[in-house]
This record gives sequence, C-alpha cells and structure tokens, in this order.
Amino acid sequence: MTPRTLPVRNPRTGEMDYAIEAAGAEEIAAIAARLRSAQKAWAARPLEERTIALVRLADALAAHRGAITAALEIDTGRRRIAGMELDGAVASLRGWAAQAPHLLPEGWTEGRSAPHIRHAPQFVPYAVAGVISPWNFPLTLSMIDTIPALLAGCAVMIKPSEVTPRFIRPLMEAIESAGLSDVLTLVSGDGATGAALIEAVDVICFTGSVATGRKVTAAAAARMIPAFLELGGKDPLIVTASADIGQATDAALRGSVLSTGQACQSIERIYVDAQIQAEFLSRLTEKAAAVRLNWPDITAGEIGPIIFERQADILRAQIDDATAKGARILTGGEIETLGGGLWLRPTVLTNVSHQMAVMTEETFGPILPVMAFSSVEDAIQLANDTVYGLSAAVFAGTLEEAEAIGRRIEAGAVSLNDAALTGLFHEAEKHSFRLSGLGGSRMGPAGFQRFLRRKALIANTGAPAPLSAFAEDA
Ligand code: NAD
Repeated sequence: MTPRTLPVRNPRTGEMDYAIEAAGAEEIAAIAARLRSAQKAWAARPLEERTIALVRLADALAAHRGAITAALEIDTGRRRIAGMELDGAVASLRGWAAQAPHLLPEGWTEGRSAPHIRHAPQFVPYAVAGVISPWNFPLTLSMIDTIPALLAGCAVMIKPSEVTPRFIRPLMEAIESAGLSDVLTLVSGDGATGAALIEAVDVICFTGSVATGRKVTAAAAARMIPAFLELGGKDPLIVTASADIGQATDAALRGSVLSTGQACQSIERIYVDAQIQAEFLSRLTEKAAAVRLNWPDITAGEIGPIIFERQADILRAQIDDATAKGARILTGGEIETLGGGLWLRPTVLTNVSHQMAVMTEETFGPILPVMAFSSVEDAIQLANDTVYGLSAAVFAGTLEEAEAIGRRIEAGAVSLNDAALTGLFHEAEKHSFRLSGLGGSRMGPAGFQRFLRRKALIANTGAPAPLSAFAEDA
C-alpha cells in the first residue's frame, strides 16, 4: 500500500506546516509482531527490573524535555501546559515505579470450602497493548495508560492523534535513548491507522470521542479483546446558596476554561442557586472577561488557541443555537481569527435551558452556560439529565453539604468545593458512567491490574478424589 501523507495544521498560524506519513495495516502488523516477540523477554524480567527501566525512561524524558516540549508547544499552541505535560509524564513514571512493589497480592490462600486445596494468583500481562490518544493533551493521554501497561509487562504501541503529531519524533528519540524501543513505540496516522492498530493488539486503551469510541468498541468486540474507553463528558457544577461566591467563581472559571476548555473533565454547565445567581454571574463575568489569550505572546496569558479547526465550528454552532433560543451572552461569544489561529475568549451565557445543545452536547471549549435552580433536588435532577457521566463538581458552604449532593450525582468522579480535580489528581480509582466510557479505572492500582490476566494456581495438598466418589450409588 502506498503511504498516505497527511498535512498537519499549526493552531497558532493556521498553516499546514508539517506532515506525517500514515502507517498502513501491513506496517502496523509488522510492528505488532516485532513488539510481541520482544515482549516475552520484557515480561520475563522481574518487576524490579521493569521498574528500573521506567525510571530510566523518566530520566530520558527529562533529558529530552526541550525537544519534546518544543514540539508539543507547536502541536497545541500553548507553552506552560506543554511543560506540565512533560513533567507530569516524568512524575507518573516515577510514581508508578515507586508503587510497583505494592500493587499485586501474592502468596497462597487456604481454601474455604475444601481446606486441603489452596490457591495462588499468577499475573500474566497481555502481550501487546494498543493506546489511541486524542489531540487535547497529546503527551499526557499517550502516556497515561502506557506507563502502567509497560510496568505490567506488556509491550505498547501508541497512536497519537493526527491533529497533534509533532511530539512523536522527539518522544521516540527519548524512548530509544532509554533502551526501550523494542517494547514501546509510536506510530503516526489517522483513524484508518487506529483501526489497523486494533486489529493487531491484544488489549486496547482508547481516549477520544463517543462517536469513535463506539467504532473502537465494535472492532474490539469482533476480536474479543478487552477495550478500555475514556470518552467525552458534559460535566455539571452545582453551586449552592451557602457557597463562598469568590471561591466558587474561581473554581468554575478554572474548571471551564483551563486549556481553552479542551479537556474531557471541563465544567460545561453550571447550576447556581437562584438566591445567589445575580452576584455569581456578575463575579464570574468579571473574572471571565479578564482572562487573557496567549496571543501574540505565547509566554503571557491564560488560554491558547482552539487546537482543532473543526472544534471552532462546534463552538460557533452551540453559541448560535443557544442565542437563537433566547440565551444571553454576558462576555465573549465570538470566534476570533488572530494570526491565522482561531480563538474564543471565555464565554458566559445566561437564560439557558436543556433545549439548547450547549447544555446537552459536549462543547470542548471555554463556554460557561449558567442556569439558576430553586431547590437542590432540581439541581441534582438537572445535573443527572445527561447521556454522559464522566465527572461533576459541587460547591457548597461546607464539605459535608457538598458531599451529600455529590453522592447523588451519577458520574465517575465528583470534585467537592473545587472543580475538575481529576485533571490535577490521578490517584483515585473511578469508572465512567453512561456514554463517558467503558472498562476498569485507569487511575489507582486498578489502572495497573487491568493489564494483567489473573491466572489461578490451584494446589491439592491431599489425595485427588477418585471417580468413584462421584458414582451415582456412592
Ligand atoms: P476522536 O475520537 O476524533 O479521535 C481520537 C483518536 O482516535 C485519534 O487518534 C484518531 O485518529 C483515532 N481514531 C479515529 N477514528 C478511529 C477508528 N475508527 N479506529 C481507531 N481509532 C480511530 O477524538 P478527538 O477529537 O481527538 O478528542 C476529543 C475527544 O476526546 C473529546 O470527546 C474528549 O472528551 C475526549 N477525551 C476524553 C478524555 C477522557 O479521559 N475521558 C480525555 C481527553 C479527551
């Protein structure tokens, strides 16, 4: 098959100033075969040795920090978060390495029903794990499942998004210098490459949209391989009358617009008690209007460009749909073209309802629609009125009040007296509800254990039962 060249857009200039060759099915199959054969020796190494190798990879990433973050900066149009992605990957490698000795139970357990039979677990990694990642945090979401999979003894093939592929080359150089390229590699390409990857691996970790997630689930089901899916969200924030409005507006703003709202765990709808709505809106609007673009100077400002051109169409369509149905824009609201890139300043909307796409469909941008509620019961019902269930947040006067509400929200993680904490804190295990995902937790010890098949060794310490013990007339 002739290689396909895919042009890549620069989000700050709008120019197609990079290109990738999309790997075809044959190349993917050959890479998988190479990884599968190297994985045997990798899995046979004691866990301590794999741990040391991960620390070596952490050191290599730190040593290649300049090249990787420079590429990520062009991929995403932001500088500080590029550095944070790199530092986060290094910290994650070191963190998993430190936890490794404590993640698996070992030893024999005496039988309860048959005391002469005891059992012990053996943990057998899947040979090749596939990781398919999106464009919003290209390095973080390429490494988040990769690190525990490698530690577990899998070989890993990563396919990052075709929208943000510039970091692949310097990352491969770091992997090479850590001596890990026989068991860890990245491939370039788009959806067709991703589909080919699913045909070649033994377990698939996918982060992306619900629409693609459905295709990935179907392809994995056809091959009977496990699929772990981390998909979109429509995260609500409930603010009660007792909340500190200064803190609640800080959390709402950061939770909604950090990374230009291009985060799965972004707050995408805000429900505020009608008693404090006016003051909440005025403070939120004032803070939102003060947010600076990192344009023209990438070293200043809080938010970057819209990374994916087509996302701007979705944002524009949601704003138009909302205003056509009666929503009012308090600040922001216009997609701007600056230097060829596309930008949206934080956009606060009021007079919104669940008849508007901005309250029901994923936005993935810096839009903060605010709706008033008259009772906490109504707020909980509104928060749960969604096809998603990734995460949520509650801000109240006390943690106890926030917790009581949080326990009734149908989502995989609820931030209490803050917002979008899953983006900052990766230790708590969680499952996505409804369309937001499928499969075990990527966080916490379960995020490691899911790459291991649990095999049972069952030992009889006495004499085996003869067939006659099962005779009809015994
Ligand atoms: P996307 O679904 O368009 O693409 C994700 C990846 O899938 C890309 O690498 C793409 O090339 C690949 N792909 C496309 N078609 C495929 C196919 N048929 N088979 C296999 N792979 C295929 O998503 P996106 O636009 O890159 O990312 C944004 C989405 O990701 C949002 O919905 C966001 O909520 C979600 N997301 C979720 C999380 C989470 O942890 N839950 C984190 C970040 C982003």
